[in-house]
Amino acid sequence: MPTIVQVPDLPLPPLRQELRIERGAPLVSGAPSWTIFDPVRHMFFQIGQTEMAILSLWRGRSAPALGAELRRQGYAGEAADGALKSMIQFCFANGLTQRPAGDAVQSLTAQRERSRRDWWRWMLDNYLFFRVPLVRPSAFLERTVSRVAPLWSQVALLVFLAAGVLGLLLVSRQWDAFIGSFLYFFSLEGAIAYGFSLILVKLVHELGHAYTATHFGCRVPTMGVSFLVMMPVLYTDTTSAWRLRSRRERLLIDCAGVTAELMLATVAVLAWLALPDGILRSVAFIVGTTSWIMTLVVNLNPFMRFDGYYLLSDMLGVPNLQMRSFALGRWWLRERLFDLSEPRPEVLPNPVHLGLIAYAFATWLYRLVLYVGIALLVYHFFFKALGILLFAVEMVVFIGRPIWHEMQAWHDRASAIRHRGRHRWWLWLTGGTILLLALPIKRHITAPAVMVTIGDTPLVAGDVARIETVHVTSGQRVRAGTALFTLASPDLDRQIARRGVTLTRIEAQLARAMADAQDLSNRAVLERERIAERDALAGLETRRTKLVLRADTDGMIVDLDLGLHRGRWLNGSEILARLVTPGFRDVQAYVAEKDIRLIKIGATGRFIPNDPTQRSYRVRLVERTHGAAERIDREELASVNGGPVAVTEMNGALIPNSANYRVRLAAEITEKVPNFEQIVPGRVVIAADPTSPLLDVLSRITRTYRAEAGG
Ligand SMILES: [Zn+2]
Repeated sequence: MPTIVQVPDLPLPPLRQELRIERGAPLVSGAPSWTIFDPVRHMFFQIGQTEMAILSLWRGRSAPALGAELRRQGYAGEAADGALKSMIQFCFANGLTQRPAGDAVQSLTAQRERSRRDWWRWMLDNYLFFRVPLVRPSAFLERTVSRVAPLWSQVALLVFLAAGVLGLLLVSRQWDAFIGSFLYFFSLEGAIAYGFSLILVKLVHELGHAYTATHFGCRVPTMGVSFLVMMPVLYTDTTSAWRLRSRRERLLIDCAGVTAELMLATVAVLAWLALPDGILRSVAFIVGTTSWIMTLVVNLNPFMRFDGYYLLSDMLGVPNLQMRSFALGRWWLRERLFDLSEPRPEVLPNPVHLGLIAYAFATWLYRLVLYVGIALLVYHFFFKALGILLFAVEMVVFIGRPIWHEMQAWHDRASAIRHRGRHRWWLWLTGGTILLLALPIKRHITAPAVMVTIGDTPLVAGDVARIETVHVTSGQRVRAGTALFTLASPDLDRQIARRGVTLTRIEAQLARAMADAQDLSNRAVLERERIAERDALAGLETRRTKLVLRADTDGMIVDLDLGLHRGRWLNGSEILARLVTPGFRDVQAYVAEKDIRLIKIGATGRFIPNDPTQRSYRVRLVERTHGAAERIDREELASVNGGPVAVTEMNGALIPNSANYRVRLAAEITEKVPNFEQIVPGRVVIAADPTSPLLDVLSRITRTYRAEAGG
């Protein structure tokens, strides 16, 4: 808190002469109020009885003398002392006093100069919200206000109400055609019509405010465009309505914009009924429907400084609603947190007091959500670097800065806070919460899965080859690694021989090039060729080793092709036999991307069949793919077959819609296995590594940041 009241025992600087003080509307408590009007800056301030008494005693007195005089007049106690302090502070802060070094206009100019120097601060404050005055309409309004005067009569109100009801009735009889007008907007002409209608509606809205203000004798100094997150919004300066003593008149000015729009909407609906199809009819449709509904939603929202805010402020009789409720809200928060027993910023009847505090917190919450939303919007809207910058600026300015200010206020009260001791409780609570969040908690992940109760591996050659030897007979039991078929591929042998010759030649050339120190470039080429040749040769050798087909698990050979004999050629895709492994349970699951890094090979869990009559099995993770699955192999899990994994069918393949990782789990066998092949759909629950929620969030933020900044 600035300690501006350390005023020495000198007379207070006199108030500026051009200030005008007028009787205002009664305050919310019913007490009389006055309005200070500063014509230089066109600003209004509302004050109460005590403040008025202070101002009337101001001239020529020092602060202590003023206090003494105030007490003599019967304004005693803490409330009067507080009012005196805050009134002096208020007059200084708002430049209402003459400065010893010159007149008010000069000091204001100096102030403006000062603020101009901090252009970056101005930019920060204003890039989300700033005003551009376009016209000074007061003379025009005063000249023409008599022409629209009939609109404020009760007759006009009744006529518009009747017209509105009539319009609705008639439209409801042609409802389909009415709604059909929507289709028209998906064209260039439609878009132009839409833009035009919006401008028309907003103009009428602002003229509504402006004419009503003029009607009640208030001057409208400017009208123009204000920019809200780069979005233009028309505005009318009706601040002089603060001078009105009648609350009803002020409320009428606040409502006039929306009322004018509703009147226009009535006319538009009737016009829609009369007009032929075309652009005009579309305009009438928009004016009669979407635009005023949007207006009601946006304009009557009391948490932003639109009509709804001023309406609420005037209805409650609480001018400067936001500033005052924020002061009360901050006071309330500090009292709750630290029990400081500070005096209330202002004393109001209890319901109003609580209402304002509630309003402050509701507004803060609303702004938090709104500003985070806007920041995200800006971040996605602009290109990456600027997006991140604007996002950061917005978070700092609109969320960080108010919090920082409040923290500073706590810092200023540090000794009082320490003295009261309640802060310890909060420190413990905050520390405890952080600790709890940092502690790792055990978690489980769930993934859709199928269990296959019998292994069944088709045996295929995979290459064009000739049969050399068949080592097995049908029904023979084999162990893992047993050779089942030996094949030969003369073509492969030829290729290997040819590559071998080429490699030998390259190596000989390389040896010669080594001897000749001059032949550097040739040597590099030869080196590359040698590497390529070696790789090719290694690949061919691998293919040759695969010509001996081996059992990869223990099992039994079934369905052996009886036509197999030495010398028969195979095209590579025919099934020679099948290796079945009874007693084998293989569980295949698809784990979502967010979960995959939480589970490790060896993690245990359970397979739970969808059919509740079947038993569940303990499983252990044995295989985990590193890349996301490009297709779903288990078609019973795919969404197109009613399964839980969302897929798109493309050329017969099931392509998952989001990243899924295929994992294999081994089920523990404790019972005799049924002797038939069975596929059991279900899900697996796997124990994940314990993680701390706090670290989890932090790592997610860093990963996002890296992905955004790096990629
Ligand atoms: Zn308005």
